[in-house]
Amino acid sequence: MSGNYEKTYSEKTAPALAALAPLLRRIDENALLRQKEVLDAFRKNRVEARHFYPSTGYGYDDISREKLDGLFADVFFAEAAIAGPMIFSGTHAISLCLQGILRPGQKMLAATGAPYDTLWPVIGLRPGTGSLAEYGIGYGEAPLTPDGLPDYDTVRRMLRSDDYALAHIQRSRGYALRPALTQGHLEKLIALIHEESPDTVVFVDNCYGEFVAPRDPVSFGADVIAGSLIKNPGGGIAPTGGYIAGRRDIVEKISYRLTTPGLGREIGSYAGDYRPYFQGLFLAPHVASQALKTAVLFAYMFGELGFEVFPAFDAERGDIVQSVSFGEGDLLVRFCGAVQAASPVDSFVVPEPWPMPGYDDPVIMAAGAFVQGSSIELSADGPMRPPYAAYFQGGLTFEHGIIAATMAAASMER
Ligand SMILES: *Cc1c(COP(=O)(O)O)cnc(C)c1O
Repeated sequence: MSGNYEKTYSEKTAPALAALAPLLRRIDENALLRQKEVLDAFRKNRVEARHFYPSTGYGYDDISREKLDGLFADVFFAEAAIAGPMIFSGTHAISLCLQGILRPGQKMLAATGAPYDTLWPVIGLRPGTGSLAEYGIGYGEAPLTPDGLPDYDTVRRMLRSDDYALAHIQRSRGYALRPALTQGHLEKLIALIHEESPDTVVFVDNCYGEFVAPRDPVSFGADVIAGSLIKNPGGGIAPTGGYIAGRRDIVEKISYRLTTPGLGREIGSYAGDYRPYFQGLFLAPHVASQALKTAVLFAYMFGELGFEVFPAFDAERGDIVQSVSFGEGDLLVRFCGAVQAASPVDSFVVPEPWPMPGYDDPVIMAAGAFVQGSSIELSADGPMRPPYAAYFQGGLTFEHGIIAATMAAASMER
């Protein structure tokens, strides 16, 4: 493969980089804008080295935890936030929001079709002990249009005919061949929900979307957002974690679900090092831009190779995820093998499809990451079902992305 590498680089990668130059520059410009905001938040919050120190026991007055929450709030232009290692994943963060806001007898509206696979047992779409359904919380779904866009008319009709205490919007695609919602689509959908039903809490699953667009959803009307720190906002540095950001009253309600009624965010210690959470957030706008550029390059190169790519290389993006449909399982497995081989950790491992907790079909994953399961690091996964699409994301540096794209393209030639 290494002889092939040089040839593929000069024949495919170098021309792609030349063709993409203006697009890549636009991604840099957005990163600059978002980096300035993140720096401003660090300055406003007067972050000091002592804010990285661990705490023990109950963690009352844990200044590090409070600082980190404050930073995440300001970075996302929210009134309040909960962020850090006490939320274990994106699913945990989203689940906390749903469980913290909704009460028995109320209903949630999935405004952008069925939510991400791991939320099915949370909602009760698949049996799950402790699901919302078990607590008597109802569910309604407005499917996406055949183009994968929000069905604004159906959302409006459903809000007029029933009471929904919460509307769930998923920005990224999950394991579906639908577009990520752009800032424009999100703005329109959020405004529509507020207009039709002012008391409905608008929640956005912001996973993979952070720092991709000029604004994140709290800035244009979302009441609360959530995501994972081993995706964009952890900058590849945070070793675990999640965040929730939004209206103060809503975040407080959620805090009573995270810990207990009465205690909320007053309690919670972390005997580990807080520095990676701060440093990761600081790096996040840049790292997200590197992942975005990597996605654009993969889209261009695999499009040129004749595969169906989604989104197109020049489409406006709402997340860092790129899919390539291979049509056959064998090519999907080969692609994931190449991404694995291009990883700094476990490069020698050969990925195989396996039944993953929370997912319906066997999933093949390429993950040679410093942080286990991190998908802001170069990674690819795909369920073993037609159209055998690889969902590719991450890349801490664009240089790494370029090398991986070259190796993956070379692996297609047999
Ligand atoms: C990754 C993801 C989640 C779940 O996050 P985990 O950290 O894997 O639990 C939820 N929704 C979307 C859209 C995602 O991409």
